[in-house]
Amino acid sequence: MYAFTLERPANAVDAAKLAAAGAKPLAGGQTLLAAMKLRLSSPGQLADLSGIQALAGIRREGNAFVIGAMTRHADVAINAELKAALPALAGLAAHIGDRQVRAMGTLGGSVANNDPAACYPSAVLALGATIHTTMRKIAADDFFLGMFATALNEGELITAISFPTPRRAAYMKFKQPASRFALVGVFIAQFDAGVRVAVTGAANGVFRHKGLEEALNQRFTLQAAAAVKIDASALNSDIHATAAYRANLISVLTQRGVTQALGQASVGLSKI
Ligand SMILES: Cc1cc2nc3c(=O)[nH]c(=O)nc-3n(C[C@H](O)[C@H](O)[C@H](O)COP(=O)(O)OP(=O)(O)OC[C@H]3O[C@@H](n4cnc5c(N)ncnc54)[C@H](O)[C@@H]3O)c2cc1C
Repeated sequence: MYAFTLERPANAVDAAKLAAAGAKPLAGGQTLLAAMKLRLSSPGQLADLSGIQALAGIRREGNAFVIGAMTRHADVAINAELKAALPALAGLAAHIGDRQVRAMGTLGGSVANNDPAACYPSAVLALGATIHTTMRKIAADDFFLGMFATALNEGELITAISFPTPRRAAYMKFKQPASRFALVGVFIAQFDAGVRVAVTGAANGVFRHKGLEEALNQRFTLQAAAAVKIDASALNSDIHATAAYRANLISVLTQRGVTQALGQASVGLSKI
């Protein structure tokens, strides 16, 4: 690594000041520290967010779950209320990477990083979540701007993400077996207002699939999903999979996700 200084701010206000002055936020370090070791990233100063207790935790607010940016994947995975009301999100966290990655990696780090094969961005987008920052609130539809790019300004920190609870949801991931990132992942959420489908791993960033959404709005069945032709022309081909293979995965994972969503008891927050 290149030399750097490390600050440990005690609260989000101090962290925001450091970030505004050019410090790079450090969350779980699962991406950032590796990038620094490879000298792909060379921040002069890190602002370690791990001591800021207000940034971690899961609470219910009306029909939504508000999850702090510094909440570790392992804590999302085991939260009993979340598992009961929004099992697709808890299950997504439970299958990120390996035990060590889940113990250290955070929601805010994952979403700020916006790796095109990461799992959380698809949940944020499909659930129509709201990203709370030190400056404003950003709708999921406006947040993800392509590979490793987001609407965050320089020095702007994610403080929490608010996830509305859908009627039904499912996340299906086909793992890249070495990294366990998504070769393709599909998050499906059915709300009273309609169905949202977000795909990760298949292209240069997470995206909503309008064709699948329209079909599932007509009939929320695996047959409706299966009838949608997935266009491979905008999808990635690499050593792991061709674009055609990824297109097929989107279709198959959506069908499986619809089946799982229909099979699981839909527990609305009001009934708990
Ligand atoms: C072996 C391995 C396997 C993995 N498998 C998966 C997987 O299956 N699915 C998956 O989704 N992910 C996977 N990941 C990614 C991992 O889960 C982390 O989410 C990811 O590495 C970043 O989170 P972090 O908390 O470690 O952030 P860091 O590495 O600390 O930070 C990442 C970036 O986000 C910025 N940042 C951090 N917090 C904030 C904030 N609050 N506000 C603004 N910017 C911020 C940092 O400055 C940095 O640029 C894997 C990682 C590894 C190493």
